[in-house]
Formats: sequence, C-alpha cells, structure tokens
Amino acid sequence: MNATTEHNPWIDEAPAADDAAAAAKAAGIKIEREQHKLEKRLCREVGRAITDFNMIEEGDKIMVCMSGGKDSYTMLDILLKMQRRAPVKFELVAVNLDQKQPGFPDHILPEYLKGLGVPFHIETQDTYSVVKRVIPEGKTTCGLCSRLRRAILYKVADQLGCTKIALGHHRDDILQTLLLNMFYGGRIKGMPPKLVSDDGKHVVIRPLAYVPEKDTERWAKSQNFPIIPCNLCGSQDGLQRVAVGEMLREWEKKHPGRIENMFRAMQNVVTTHMLDPKLHDFKNARATGIANPDGDMAFDHEEFPAAATLPGVQVVQLS
Ligand code: SF4
Repeated sequence: MNATTEHNPWIDEAPAADDAAAAAKAAGIKIEREQHKLEKRLCREVGRAITDFNMIEEGDKIMVCMSGGKDSYTMLDILLKMQRRAPVKFELVAVNLDQKQPGFPDHILPEYLKGLGVPFHIETQDTYSVVKRVIPEGKTTCGLCSRLRRAILYKVADQLGCTKIALGHHRDDILQTLLLNMFYGGRIKGMPPKLVSDDGKHVVIRPLAYVPEKDTERWAKSQNFPIIPCNLCGSQDGLQRVAVGEMLREWEKKHPGRIENMFRAMQNVVTTHMLDPKLHDFKNARATGIANPDGDMAFDHEEFPAAATLPGVQVVQLS
C-alpha cells in the first residue's frame, strides 16, 4: 500500500487545524491593523482640529466632559494620546455630571477613570427631579435640563481652575445641528469647534469636530468602553435629531460622500452668495470695473466635479 495515499485522520486533520490557526492568526492581524489605522485616523483628525482652531495652548487645563457615551470616551482616550505627543504641556481632568436620572449606574465612570489613572471629578446634582417638578408631564424636558447642566459645568470648570471645556460633539453632530437649525430654526447655524461660552467666561472646544460618528462608534467598540445608555431620562426631545441623523445616513448610503461634502461646505461659506445683510453690504454694492471671479456669474452654470470623479455628488444643472 502506498503510504502517502492512505487516509490517516491524525495526519490529515493536522494540516486543517494548522489552516484554521493560520486563518485565525491572519484575521487577528487584520483586526489589529484596522484598529491601528483607525487610531491613527482619529489622532490625525483630532490633531488637525486642534491645530486649525488653536484649541489647546501651553498650560491649558482642560475639563473633559464625560457623559459615559461612546463619543466622550473616545474624546478622552484620544486627548490622552495627544497629551503624550503634543508640542505643548496641558492637563486633562475628566468631569461627569451625575444628574440623578433613575437607573444611572454611578459606579461605572469612577471605576473606569480610576483604572485609567486620569484626574477626575464627579459632580452630583439632582437636576432630574428639578426638571420633572418644573416641566409639565408630556412636555419636552431637554431645554431646562441642558440649561441647568451648562450652568453646573461652568461652575465646576471655575472650581477646578479649568481654562477650556471640551465637549465630545463630532462631525455628524455638527452637521445635524446645522440642518436642525435650517429646518426648524430658520437660520444657518451649526456648532462651533471653539467658542467663548455664552456667559463670556469659558472657552468651549470640540476636539472631535472633524471625526465622523462611525469612527467613534468603531473605536468605542474596539476598546470595549463601558458605555452608559443615554436614554435614562426618557425624554422624547431628541426625536427630530434622530430623524435628521437617519436622513443623513440614508443620503450617505445612496450618495456616498455627501456628508463629507456638506461638512466641507460649512468650512467654505461664500457670504456674498447668501442673503444675510449682516455678512455682506448689499445695499452699497457698486461696480468697481475690476474683474473678480467671485463676482456674480449671471446665468452661468455652476461647475461641479463630475459624479464619476467625486462619488455620490449629484450634478445639478442650474438653468
Ligand atoms: S435627553 Fe434627557 S438628559 Fe439629555 S438633555 Fe434631554 S432631558 Fe436632559
């Protein structure tokens, strides 16, 4: 009998097991590589936003607002990485406001932050009861709730001596806010990457301003952050935001690249072609005799990149 063709399960199984092990190893390497790429992308986008808007300066003490959601965990994580390689020295202090919503797991964040070794402060204020007492049943509670939260966070920033307040809003939050303001507020207004607070006393920054939500989702998953659910208050007020988020995701599915284009548009506002007299002095417009490509083009068609070169962009003929 030819020994090489004889079936021997011991011998025949071995290569299969080796194959499986090799496949598992290859899959593991692939996941690791993807994670590394994602980490690099997150650091690059946060670094770009910090640089573009001069978000962090020498000696800053930054209050990192932690809700326990995927975005705030990602923000803290990436800021800690940034801190190790930044050209300036700055401090981070993570702050969570426990609003006493029923079922809020108040041990999760302290345990996580202790484990991380990052300075932190938990502020406990029962705004939930206040809101429930003041707002009639069935009315939306977010307006009062966020006003109370804002005031408390400003006070905590003062007490901790923080020079900046970092919020975990990302690119998609900013775009959703722009659309919500247009749809329901009759104004073009997004969320600033860096702005002095409404009381004039604090500088608020949004280091994730350039980061797409799907990247914070992926990062949170890969890092197994102990996420605290965000529906504890039972408010329905977020429905419009949820609907706009859904609309954007649908658009993106049908026209890949649309979200990025809309976001780029926010960084490229042509004020002369809007209708806001606060931004441009239309009343005193006079011919200068000097050609200007940014001037009025009368009936000329706008030129857009071909859909083939910029996937997902619909070419609209203006006539
Ligand atoms: S969703 Fe709940 S916690 Fe958030 S602002 Fe509204 S009421 Fe407050």
